Amino acid sequence: MILSAVAVFSGNVMAQKAVICLTYDDGLPSHLVTVIPQLDSFQLKGTFFLNAIRGSSDKIGQAPEALISWRQAAAHGHELGNHTMFHPCPEALGWDKTVSIETYTIEQIITEITTINAMLGMIDPKRKHRSFAFPCNNTIVQGKDYSATIREKGLVQYGRGGGDSNAFVKDIREMNSMQVPSWLVEKGTTIKQLIAFAEKVRSQGTMGVYQFHGVGAEFFTISPETHRAFLKYLSDNHSLYQVMTFSEAMEIRSKR
Ligand SMILES: [Zn+2]
Repeated sequence: MILSAVAVFSGNVMAQKAVICLTYDDGLPSHLVTVIPQLDSFQLKGTFFLNAIRGSSDKIGQAPEALISWRQAAAHGHELGNHTMFHPCPEALGWDKTVSIETYTIEQIITEITTINAMLGMIDPKRKHRSFAFPCNNTIVQGKDYSATIREKGLVQYGRGGGDSNAFVKDIREMNSMQVPSWLVEKGTTIKQLIAFAEKVRSQGTMGVYQFHGVGAEFFTISPETHRAFLKYLSDNHSLYQVMTFSEAMEIRSKR
């Protein structure tokens, strides 16, 4: 795995495959019910950026179902990343003042990231370094970009930012590894559009990151059929694409 991926970045045109990262935000129920079983059926690994773990068991002594499922997902090689605890976003995006980023200090956001790191450490103890996705792809707190600060403090190693369907990595050597662009996949996106992005990455770039939310439920929803068809496309075209978790792609890049 590592060796072939190194070849991806070796500059050898013959060996060059586009790196594709499938990322899913907000720890949604559809990730456990639909996305992970679909990924597993194609033996592909995804990256899941979690806030809190939903729900608790009604019975004392019984673990919440979501906790067990996320543990299993991590044990099967899916990456669990940090997405803060309360997901603060700008008021301009409709966030209530009580949870908007305008009311935050850098210290608060650091406390949230630290807390979620501890939670993820209990669910997924094997992983020593965490990647991070900025809530609503916003990197600013109190008028200051906090992306470098959270890495300097050793909280996270890599950061995923946002973008549109032109937001992919053109030159892996030039990219800021705390603000890696990704395509926020909008509601109702079709298989044709998903494939078009992958093809664009292959012809014009080196690495493309999909930012998914709900699949068959919740928000920014795409259908389970579209999601499955896209995984099949990636799997059928494994000579063109290398699907990796976000951290795997970043680690290999840093070894260049
Ligand atoms: Zn989010």
